[in-house]
Amino acid sequence: MKKKIFAVCLTAVFLGLGITPGLASDTKIQNYKNELKQNEQQMTNIQGQLNNTTSKKTTAKEEVEKLDTELNKVNSEYESLVERLDKTNKQLEQAQKELAEATEKREVQYDTLKERIRVMYEEGDIGYLEVLLNADSFSDYLNRMEYINRIMDHDNNLLADFQALEILINEKVNEIEDCKKELESLTAKTAAKKAELDSKVQEKLDLISKLSADEATYNQQLSDLEEDNEYIKSLIQKAEKEAAAAKAAAQAAAANSAASYSSSNKIYSYGGGRFLWPVPAYVGVINDVYGYRSSPISGKSEHHSGLDMKAPYGTDIVAADDGTVIYSGVRNGYGNCVIIDHGGGYSTLYGHNSSLCVTVGQSVVRGQVIAKAGSTGYSTGPHCHFEVRINGQYVDPNPYL
Ligand SMILES: [Zn+2]
Repeated sequence: MKKKIFAVCLTAVFLGLGITPGLASDTKIQNYKNELKQNEQQMTNIQGQLNNTTSKKTTAKEEVEKLDTELNKVNSEYESLVERLDKTNKQLEQAQKELAEATEKREVQYDTLKERIRVMYEEGDIGYLEVLLNADSFSDYLNRMEYINRIMDHDNNLLADFQALEILINEKVNEIEDCKKELESLTAKTAAKKAELDSKVQEKLDLISKLSADEATYNQQLSDLEEDNEYIKSLIQKAEKEAAAAKAAAQAAAANSAASYSSSNKIYSYGGGRFLWPVPAYVGVINDVYGYRSSPISGKSEHHSGLDMKAPYGTDIVAADDGTVIYSGVRNGYGNCVIIDHGGGYSTLYGHNSSLCVTVGQSVVRGQVIAKAGSTGYSTGPHCHFEVRINGQYVDPNPYL
């Protein structure tokens, strides 16, 4: 988006350059220099934005480094927790296996005891009662009784031992299960922290990539402006060369000019205006400019109302633009004179002609021959006195040529 606006601005700069060639070379050069200054100001602004962006990027990179360090720590914590959880699961599995074995032993022992009691009470012929009743004597009976009690005690003790073992292992299983739950909760919390850090890092990386894109845009803008400046500098150089050449030519023409007023060959700086140079055979060559001057006849200072263009006797004088002839005849100091109305308040005047080729009311087109050059009226030699008038008032013809 920024890039697009920028392109439009550049176009405007070039359009601005394009519509100024009618101005005098000094003004043209000054305009180029102003464009250059504006570009340089813009470049300073963009460079500032670029520096700001680069500094933001550096900060973001430092933050990413910090987050990475933290993330590495959390990652290793997480890995350690997962390892511990794995180990605990194995311990739990082992303890549960031991518990199953203990339970089985206890059950087997209980069955054994039950079997012995059943034998004692139900199967008299091979049971403890028979053993007791078959005693030889009372002391034998007591001995047998003692023997049976020992067997019973032994069975009872075994059962109690197995039961105790079973309870112990069960406690161990519960303990491991508690430990596992705690580890699982810790692992979940660490995983959440890890995810949060991951997302923060991603956020920063996105920011860095956006800042990098901005940097690229600013750099492109700077290089475009630099290119533009090089172009403007070349235009300035060209305009300065042209101005110097025109000045040298004018000086040479002035130095070489004969004493006669009409034979001087000054080069006139003009171009881009609406009117055609009315002497096609000597385009751009003048004898005298518009404005205050020393009169070629009286020598006194006077205001010259037009441009005196080089035009030897009999040279074609043409209409500077389409229009209607509103004057064709002798007119005071102008001698044989033609005035053409171009509409919109604009008219042009051509003086000192030797002969006239148009009549009042006649329509003429741009470039049409309207008169032949001469030296009639207030004149020291053949030339064309050309005036531009706006609403009847003469003006400097320069911007209109
Ligand atoms: Zn004149």
